[in-house]
Amino acid sequence: MQRELRIRFLGVRGSYPVASKDYLKYGGNTASVLIETEHIYVILDAGTGIVNVPLFLKKRSLPVILLFSHIHLDHIIGYPFFISHIKPATDLYVAGPNFPSDFFKFMVDTFKSPIYPVSWGTIKSPKMIFALDGGESLIIYNGRVSLSEKGVHDNSNKKVVISSLKSRAHPEDGILVYSLSFKGKKIVYATDVEWRKELDRKIVNFMKGCDILVHDAQYTPQEYNSRTKPTKGFGHSTYIKACEVAKEVGAKNLILFHHDPKHNDSLIDSIEKDAREIFPSTSAAFEGMEIKV
Ligand SMILES: [Zn+2]
Ligand SMILES: [Zn+2]
Repeated sequence: MQRELRIRFLGVRGSYPVASKDYLKYGGNTASVLIETEHIYVILDAGTGIVNVPLFLKKRSLPVILLFSHIHLDHIIGYPFFISHIKPATDLYVAGPNFPSDFFKFMVDTFKSPIYPVSWGTIKSPKMIFALDGGESLIIYNGRVSLSEKGVHDNSNKKVVISSLKSRAHPEDGILVYSLSFKGKKIVYATDVEWRKELDRKIVNFMKGCDILVHDAQYTPQEYNSRTKPTKGFGHSTYIKACEVAKEVGAKNLILFHHDPKHNDSLIDSIEKDAREIFPSTSAAFEGMEIKV
């Protein structure tokens, strides 16, 4: 059977990058995930992991779209370095949250001197920037990317459909959760989320029946509920919560993502083992992990 989607993890760490012999198995780069389809390359977030993405953009004729979940530092820091390495002829699109401020202005104003020595315009700039409020869909077919304001229910199966949903589940301004559907397969990317006890119906419907759920799993329950230094309220999930969400939405596979920078390889091994007791089809994301869907 021909696989329609290939997902590759290039940065799986949350908050800040880490490097030492204790992080060799899962890796130390911050969030960046590449999905390959026959119509487009889709990159989720521009953490330090994105720097290696150009190595995998082998089909030069395919456009590339970079989607930002939000603009916290661990999700944007790799952008100027990525943009410097991408082939000049590549059709690059960028989409991200139009909150807390104008996303287009953010892109143009941020990645330039004095924080980066090369100014916007002298390095490759995107062909188009989509500023999303959440609820819109991007439809990709035959090298073209178009925006549908009201979301889309496309049954033709020929197009890649990326849908966005705004959630307030991350301080202070919220994030975008994305889903990508193509030929009956569905991948959901939900990083930097800390749900209330109950998931709201909108979120459940958005994630429902996905083949792959990439979900924030930054904390252990001990860290989350610690009496001395609780991480509750920081905008991230425990791996237990990630498993509960996967169950509730009927995900086929769960990928634990956005590992805490203090979690070394052996701790993540034990988190994965524990999580499988709750949701057997769980894997902890590691750099270089590749899944064909
Ligand atoms: Zn983050
Ligand atoms: Zn964040």
